[in-house]
Amino acid sequence: MNITTKISVFFALICLFLTICIFSILKQSENSTIEFENQQIKKSIETFFEALKTKSFFLQNIAYEHSINDNILKIVEEKKNNTKKTNFIKDKYTHFFLFDKNKNFIYGNVYDINSDEFVSTPNAIKTFFKTKEIDIYLDKNRINFITLDYEKILFTIEKVFKNNKFIGYVFIGRSLDSLFLSELSKITHQYISFLPSHTLIKKKQLNFDSNLIYYDISRVDEYSLFSYLELTDQFDNSNFYIRMKMNRDFFVQINKNNKSIFYIFIITFIILIIVIYFFIDKLFAKRIKNITNIIKNISKSSSLDLKIELDYNDEITYLSKKINQMLYSINLKQHENLKKQRDFLQSVLDTQKNIILITDGKDIHTTNKKFVDIFKSKDKFLTNIALLDNKTQDNLVKIAKKYDSYEKPAKLKIEDELKYFTFDVQKLDMQKYLICMDDVSKYNEKICHLEQKASVDELTQVYNKSTITTMLNCWLEIRSFCLIIFDIDYFKNINDTYGHFVGDCVLKDLASLIRNILPKNDILGRFGGEEFIVLINDNSSNNIISIANRLKKEVENKRFIYDDAFVDLTISLGTTFCIKGESYQDVYKRADKALYEAKNSGRNRVCFK
Ligand code: GH3
Ligand code: MG
Ligand code: MG
Repeated sequence: MNITTKISVFFALICLFLTICIFSILKQSENSTIEFENQQIKKSIETFFEALKTKSFFLQNIAYEHSINDNILKIVEEKKNNTKKTNFIKDKYTHFFLFDKNKNFIYGNVYDINSDEFVSTPNAIKTFFKTKEIDIYLDKNRINFITLDYEKILFTIEKVFKNNKFIGYVFIGRSLDSLFLSELSKITHQYISFLPSHTLIKKKQLNFDSNLIYYDISRVDEYSLFSYLELTDQFDNSNFYIRMKMNRDFFVQINKNNKSIFYIFIITFIILIIVIYFFIDKLFAKRIKNITNIIKNISKSSSLDLKIELDYNDEITYLSKKINQMLYSINLKQHENLKKQRDFLQSVLDTQKNIILITDGKDIHTTNKKFVDIFKSKDKFLTNIALLDNKTQDNLVKIAKKYDSYEKPAKLKIEDELKYFTFDVQKLDMQKYLICMDDVSKYNEKICHLEQKASVDELTQVYNKSTITTMLNCWLEIRSFCLIIFDIDYFKNINDTYGHFVGDCVLKDLASLIRNILPKNDILGRFGGEEFIVLINDNSSNNIISIANRLKKEVENKRFIYDDAFVDLTISLGTTFCIKGESYQDVYKRADKALYEAKNSGRNRVCFK
């Protein structure tokens, strides 16, 4: 994983972590808002019950007033159903009933606020008085409800006394109609409605005036919250419900604020992260990447000439400076070492007696001291070579390969003096060749000199003993080669049989036969009597025996004819391989030993030593 990726992952993780933190803070805030809302609902419920209690007290006051009213007392006392309607405070109460002390109905009115008219008394109230223990409803702290003609009624009951004598009951009720509920709504600041049935899902309870109140809260959406209160009907102990709709503006506003804070924070944070990322990337990651790339390139190309850019004045720049310095000093050391190696190689080349040059065929890269001594400069040398080949553009290696033997040395004119050179070409690698040049001028002079005054043997017309001996010494100085000495078998007998003249003719014709068989570069000489020497131009000993056998065979098959004389003869051959620098004596001794062995082992054969 590279640095940029690591930084990206790091920032992404920070981003994720902070988002989770902010999210949980917001969730916490939402929860505490809900908790606050729940408290508000509790308060509202309490306010609602306070209001209900106030209404109940109000009804109790009215009931009390009625209980001491003379007219009412008279009706109860006489137990007469007075047809005259009671004066209702019409929007404060709706039900008015009188009962005697035995809970028998005497008189009552029911007033419908909506239709502004009196309606008939429901029978249920009579049953209620007959069947229930009425005294418990006299408790001033109780809030009582009853269902009459499908209407929920808040009610209170007051005992009627005359002269301290208990004579009956007054019942005052107020139906929970829309007017009544809207009055309650005004007090509680919540919209209140009546529900005959409902199920409390998450039932909560609240203690109000030592009464347990059950309720639940339903959050329908962001804007609607309903709380349901459970109330009990005294008539049949059935439950009915009051629904309060709460205004959630506060909650919505807080949520809105939280959300905008969240988005603002996230956007700011992302922008900040991007800015920091680019800042870090530009200041660190990119530069470290650059340094890494340069180091990679160095290890690939092994070139130390690369440099790291220095942009700011900080620790990375300091590090880059130090790396640059290290590269510079390693580079310097490497150059020094290379120079030392080159100097050493040059000194080795300079100690060589031969002329040495290293070339790719066109250009000369390295030369030794001998080269400079003789040719002075590369250009002069190349001009000379071009004259030699008449082709200025030809490959130097190709030209050199043409002049690789003593028999055909390259003839170069150096400062008006003719000089002879042989070339030895070695391949160093795919492009470079090492050319080693031998100055063979002296040898060539000697040969020329000898050639001029060469003493050839008068009888056989091949080199005489002194010439062949000189040549043999010359060859030993400059090269390795093969040597054959051969001698005619029983030549004395030929002389004795056919006479000396025929003997001479045989010597002459044998020399001519051998000369014709041998290649031009091989040298034949008469060493004395009927003994000959051959210098074979071959620097390995592989072919020497077969060459000698061929000579032996040719002689064996040849019949020398002179008038009536038919001469058949054989020769014995001793061969050896001469290594450059050996002495003449050693070489001759070895060859002579081989010849002696050939003679002793029956003649007409070849022996190698
Ligand atoms: P081997 O097989 O042992 O060589 O026997 P060979 O008879 O050839 O050897 P030996 O050395 O006994 O005799 C050599 C003879 O060669 C002796 C000599 O008369 C003869 N001879 C030497 N030079 C000449 C020459 O120039 N002309 C003639 N015709 N004979 C020569
Ligand atoms: Mg002989
Ligand atoms: Mg002999």
